[in-house]
Amino acid sequence: MALRLDQKLYERLFDCVHCGFCLGVCPTYAQLGDENDSPRGRLHLMRALVEGRIEPTASVMKHLTLCLDCRACQAFCPSGVKYGSMIEQVRGELAERVAGASKTVIERLIDRLINDVFPDRDRSDRLMLLARLGQAAGMDEFLEQSGLRDVLPPQLARLHAMLPKLGDRLEAIPVHLRPTCEIRARVGFFIGCVSESMFGPTNRATLRVLLANGVEVFAPPAQVCCGAIHHHNNKPDVARQLARLNIDVFGAIEGGVDAVVTNVAGCGAMLKEYGELLADDREYADRAKRFVERVRDISEFLVGLGIRPPTRAMKMKVTYHDACHLAHAQGITKQPRELLRSIPGLEIVPLPESDMCCGAAGTYNLTQPKMSDRLAERKLSNIDKTGAGVVAAANAGCLLQISQHARRTGRDLRVVHPIDLLAEAYGDDGCL
Ligand code: SF4
Ligand code: SF4
Repeated sequence: MALRLDQKLYERLFDCVHCGFCLGVCPTYAQLGDENDSPRGRLHLMRALVEGRIEPTASVMKHLTLCLDCRACQAFCPSGVKYGSMIEQVRGELAERVAGASKTVIERLIDRLINDVFPDRDRSDRLMLLARLGQAAGMDEFLEQSGLRDVLPPQLARLHAMLPKLGDRLEAIPVHLRPTCEIRARVGFFIGCVSESMFGPTNRATLRVLLANGVEVFAPPAQVCCGAIHHHNNKPDVARQLARLNIDVFGAIEGGVDAVVTNVAGCGAMLKEYGELLADDREYADRAKRFVERVRDISEFLVGLGIRPPTRAMKMKVTYHDACHLAHAQGITKQPRELLRSIPGLEIVPLPESDMCCGAAGTYNLTQPKMSDRLAERKLSNIDKTGAGVVAAANAGCLLQISQHARRTGRDLRVVHPIDLLAEAYGDDGCL
């Protein structure tokens, strides 16, 4: 039976003129050199599936599921092919057909974690509390030294290996923060769900940088997950409901805000897609468009506002990795570098293939471990070539992926968000 694809998207499949320009930027094509694992080849497969000319055989599925949805091809395509929406819809439909079929208990458990636990800040927080207790009791070392980790189901072992060292549990983010100096802007801060549980210090660093730049911050506690996980896992209704909630919550900030700011590229890309997601919702379509106009990545916001340069020098060599959801999905590449350049003393060295996916790609590192590892190793070899001891990336998934592989391969590499470095450079300066 032919696959369904939204009629407008189906028509846009014909935008592809088969020029092949996208082949050079596709990570899976770079690794495998197989046309079926290139954007052009996958578009061809999708069209044949929708027109009923081929069946979703195991081999066809393999080529489609190996795509990282990194959108490098979309950003590069001169014909404006909407590759991301197409692959997401096609994979969603294929997943629906095989839903529930032949899933193991572990796969169901992982699904549950990804779809129901990580996107819920309270549940995610409780899970991280357990992880903290385990780390404090030496569970990581025990699993490692006893060899028990090797007998865990592979996906669970990978999840465990990805977990960073969790510091102390942090106080909840204040609902309202005012800088001590003149206020230059008012923003709503998007806290995130699992990123707050794992990268809480980066959220606090972001708040300090905003205050140091004279920004008043509102962080409404009723905000929810951006919906990216559900959107990419074929649960559009859940994603839409979360989008409506966030639009309501940020819209209710008294006096309004100039921007809604996030420090996670994946969340930012999703928040900016609310207009498209709610385009057919009569009540929310216009509100979603207005909301999207105000969404900013933290680097985009600060550069737009004009960064107050920090005074503390940071003597270190840093390289910068472009997260796919920042560079390809949002077109933001200059601003994070500008943010780093504002730090005195920092030596910034260019990273070869900086905008090639590191293999994190949401849950890809769990579902496609081999390709994910190959791309992580490619990223780390490129980082090695720079001689930098620090790599900065503006997405939680990239931070987890790069640091986990650096640990696993015994590299001495500090992996940080650019905002962490900027906050360190401010120290107690500014309007804190
Ligand atoms: S997707 Fe775009 S860049 Fe790639 S072959 Fe088609 S038209 Fe060319
Ligand atoms: S989204 Fe990324 S992995 Fe998928 S076809 Fe495009 S460039 Fe290749």
